[in-house]
Amino acid sequence: MRDLAIYVHIPFCVRKCRYCDFLSAPGNAKERTAYLQALMREMRYRSAELQKYRVKTIFWGGGTPSLLEAPAFEEAAAALRACTGEWAPDVEWTVEANPGTLREDKVESWRRMGVNRVSLGVQATQEHLLRRIGRIHTWEQAVESVKMLREAGFSNINLDLMMGLPGQSLDDWTETLERGILLGPEHLSCYSLILEEGTPLYEDVRQGRESLPEEEAERAMYNLTLKRLQAAGYMQYEISNFAKPGYHCRHNLVYWELGDYQGLGLGAASYIEGVRRKNTEDLCEYVQAENPVVCERIEEENSLKNQMEEWMFLGLRKTAGVDLREFQDRFGHSAESVYGETMRDLQEEGLILRKGDQIMLSRRGLDLANQVFAAFLL
Ligand code: SF4
Repeated sequence: MRDLAIYVHIPFCVRKCRYCDFLSAPGNAKERTAYLQALMREMRYRSAELQKYRVKTIFWGGGTPSLLEAPAFEEAAAALRACTGEWAPDVEWTVEANPGTLREDKVESWRRMGVNRVSLGVQATQEHLLRRIGRIHTWEQAVESVKMLREAGFSNINLDLMMGLPGQSLDDWTETLERGILLGPEHLSCYSLILEEGTPLYEDVRQGRESLPEEEAERAMYNLTLKRLQAAGYMQYEISNFAKPGYHCRHNLVYWELGDYQGLGLGAASYIEGVRRKNTEDLCEYVQAENPVVCERIEEENSLKNQMEEWMFLGLRKTAGVDLREFQDRFGHSAESVYGETMRDLQEEGLILRKGDQIMLSRRGLDLANQVFAAFLL
């Protein structure tokens, strides 16, 4: 039986953050109810397919899944359980949450249903920065959320933090990191803000009302992150992800290792046995369909060439890198015959390291990761 990761998309937020281009919107009570009904229909229509797999990880993302009231969450979670087959005994089940939307009854219902990991979108600890990027919460609410989760018995918490925010200094970032570490999460994701076209922040920057830190300042933030988190006992296992031993996010590793995953919900992407699919991003179409599965699009029959490229550059995101023997087992060609010259060039430039059959980004390669990934395009 093949392993499967399941992603469930909840596309609602209290309001849009100024930098966000994810598929999410406030939505009213009626839309939220109709959406959950459609989501459960999708689960039921996919049930026969889902039963063929053993579920290893589940991730409810968004949007803001923590907006769901406890009874609504429980109903949808029970539907998922009923529509899937075997769950691994150590299934990892994450729910994304935003400070300011947690309540004891919600948190307790997550525990009751089997959620064992919570990922909290904290981003920064300075109120002026949180306001500037349009977050709905304060730092104090983030602290309270962690306390609430601990009291409910959660022993696997991630904090999302963001570098490169408008107006963020190195001192701000240092303070964010230190305060984050003090909260004692098992996992930290430290991402750089990406300025996405079409967002209010993009317009502000374009018209000179906001400016982002210089590339050099952002690099200093990243360097500090690597040093400080290592000293605090977090192991870097991916470009932006750090965990206490044994607490890496197994769900995200499925993406980076090109494993099978099924997305459920609006715009959710799937990758199963080399085929990529994506659900419609049109909320009306999704909600009105008797069978929402018919609204999915098959993106591409992933060619061998695409799969090799993706496997390389997604795998190289991990600090452990990729195993070249696995490349041979998976694709039936030696990595040397496909990428021999590329690997030698990158090694000479000091961007990748080779240890036996394993290749990985060097410290310099971490800073220039996009350049390395581009080199693996065939
Ligand atoms: S909470 Fe997350 S998904 Fe919602 S608007 Fe903000 S960044 Fe986007």
